[in-house]
Amino acid sequence: MNINKPENITIIGSGPAGYTAAIYAARAGLSPLMISGLEQGGQLMITTDVENYPGFEKPVQGPWLMEQMKNQAESFGTRILLDFVKDVDLETLPFKLKTEKQVIKSNSIVIATGAKANWLGIKGEQEFMGFGVSACATCDGFFFKGKDVAVVGGGNTAVEEALFLSNLCKKVYVIHRRDNLRAEKILQERLFKKENVNFIWDSNVTEIIGDLEKKKLHSITIKNKKNEVNQLPIDGFFVAIGHSPATNLFKNKLQMDNDGYIFTEPNSTKTDIEGVFAAGDVTDRLYRQAVTAAGMGCMSAIEAESFLSSRKII
Ligand SMILES: Cc1cc2nc3c(=O)[nH]c(=O)nc-3n(C[C@H](O)[C@H](O)[C@H](O)COP(=O)(O)OP(=O)(O)OC[C@H]3O[C@@H](n4cnc5c(N)ncnc54)[C@H](O)[C@@H]3O)c2cc1C
Repeated sequence: MNINKPENITIIGSGPAGYTAAIYAARAGLSPLMISGLEQGGQLMITTDVENYPGFEKPVQGPWLMEQMKNQAESFGTRILLDFVKDVDLETLPFKLKTEKQVIKSNSIVIATGAKANWLGIKGEQEFMGFGVSACATCDGFFFKGKDVAVVGGGNTAVEEALFLSNLCKKVYVIHRRDNLRAEKILQERLFKKENVNFIWDSNVTEIIGDLEKKKLHSITIKNKKNEVNQLPIDGFFVAIGHSPATNLFKNKLQMDNDGYIFTEPNSTKTDIEGVFAAGDVTDRLYRQAVTAAGMGCMSAIEAESFLSSRKII
C-alpha cells in the first residue's frame, strides 16, 4: 500500500456485505482495500448449517460459505488487511481511517461492520449456541418444525420471531420479565390470536439445560417474580432482546437512529456524507440476513464507483 496515495475504496468489515462490496468493487477495477475486523468472516463464522443462502441445494457450513466469499473477493484482487478501525475522520476527502496499525486515506468508504445479537449471558447459552440456542428465527426456525420452542423478549423483535415460529412449531412459549409486551399493538394482537402460543409473564430464564455431548438442549429453568423456579421442556430457545449495530466508531460523525443503526437514503446505501456508504446489518434492523447484506454490499460498490467517477477520481 502506498500511504501517500489515497485508496479508491476501503471496505470496513468482512461479512457478506463487505465481501460482496469487495467483489463488485474489484471487478469494477477499483482495487479495493478491505479491513477485516477482529471477526474475519462476520457473524456466519459462528453458525453451522446455512440453508437459505441461494445457490446451494444442500446446507452449507457458515465458515465454509465465508471462506468462499473471501476467496472470490481475493481472486479479483481485493487486498485484505487483518486490522481493526479505531477512529475515522469523515470531514474532508480523502477520508482518514485510523486502525490498530496505521492511518489509511480513502476517497470512499463502505461501512459493513454488522451487528451483534444481544444475549442473556446465562449458563448454557454459549454452549448450545447453534445447537438449539439461536437469535434468528428466520435463520434457524425451520430446524424446529413441529417442535416446542421458547422465545425470550417483549419487544417487536420477540413478537415477530414468535409469530414466525408459530407457523412452524408445535408450541411457542413467549417468556417476558414483565407482565405485558412492549411491541406494537398490531403485532401483539396478531400474536395473542395464535392458538399454539403460550405466555409466561414476570419471569426470567436462568439456565439452558441439555446434553453437551449430543449438543442438544432439552429444557430451560425459569424463575418468576415470586422466586418460584420451574423447568420447561423445549427443543429450541430463541433470544430476542435486540441487536447492537457496531457503530460506536461513527457516533456524532454519521446520522444514525436511536439504536445506532446508520441512516441510509431509501433504496440506497448512501449515508448523509457523500462518499460514505453503509451496507448490511449495520443499517438494517429488519431483515438481518446474509443475502440481504450481500445485496446491500453490491449496491454500495456500484454507488461508490458512481461517486468516484462523478468526482473524476477514477
Ligand atoms: C448464529 C447466527 C446464525 C445465522 N444464520 C443465518 C442464516 O442461516 N442465514 C442468513 O441469511 N443469515 C444468518 N445469520 C445472519 C447473518 O449472519 C447476518 O445477517 C450477516 O452476517 C450480516 O452480514 P454483514 O456483512 O452486514 O455483517 P457481519 O456478518 O456482522 O460482519 C461484520 C464484519 O465487520 C467487522 N467489523 C466490526 N467492527 C469493525 C471495525 N471497527 N473495524 C473493522 N472491521 C469491523 C467484523 O469483524 C465482521 O467481519 C445468522 C447470524 C448468526 C449470529
